Amino acid sequence: MFEIFPIRAFSDNYIWTLLKDNEVTVVDPGDPEPVRSFLEERGLTLNSILITHHHYDHTGGIQSLVESYNCEVYGPKGGHIEGINTSLTEGDVIEISGIEFSIFSTPGHTLDHISYFADIDVPLLFCGDTLFSGGCGRLFEGTPEQMFNSLNKFSVLPSNTQVFCTHEYTESNLTFAIEVEPDNKDLNERLNEVREMRREDKITLPSTISTELKINPFLRCHREEVIEAAQNYSQTAVSKDEEVLGVIRNWKDNF
Ligand SMILES: [Zn+2]
Repeated sequence: MFEIFPIRAFSDNYIWTLLKDNEVTVVDPGDPEPVRSFLEERGLTLNSILITHHHYDHTGGIQSLVESYNCEVYGPKGGHIEGINTSLTEGDVIEISGIEFSIFSTPGHTLDHISYFADIDVPLLFCGDTLFSGGCGRLFEGTPEQMFNSLNKFSVLPSNTQVFCTHEYTESNLTFAIEVEPDNKDLNERLNEVREMRREDKITLPSTISTELKINPFLRCHREEVIEAAQNYSQTAVSKDEEVLGVIRNWKDNF
């Protein structure tokens, strides 16, 4: 089994770091320096890098880490991210330290976004900037419909799947989610817990799919209370779930 560490980077990024049998894999190393410090402190080397999408705060460390450690770099196909030597798309399977990871294409935040899923006893999902605890990524390149379909790939995963998002956005996401669903008891409880954790500078991740299904409005676009909130905000009739997602994403952008 992996030991998984969050390496903090920039103001609110986590570079998730997987350790098994002295092999190390990092996900989305936007900054090489904290990764290098982590490895040097423990006398480890870097075996592989997993990349979810092209944004610089996820890819900025590739070149320097490859120069130092000559590691494998997995990431989205397309040739637009320098340093990737194994290009991946929906349905591909890779092996990391003897554990299989399936690749999902998850466009919405960007068009090239992919996510990594290991279906083991306690399943692992590395979803980059697609799903956050209590929220989802901004739609920089994709459509609400694309994000909706991407998030649906996560909703059906085993409920105990651990969800490793790249950013510590949980508190601000839940503060918004409460606006959408003020009467959601699970959401109110989680926001109180998260506020407490953040006061102590604790990490609120990983989340789980079962938690997200209860508290994340972007996974709850089919729920009557979320549809109603979207209609009240947009002052229009909203019939499809993906339209609900579009409205609440736009609402969050202006929140
Ligand atoms: Zn991004």
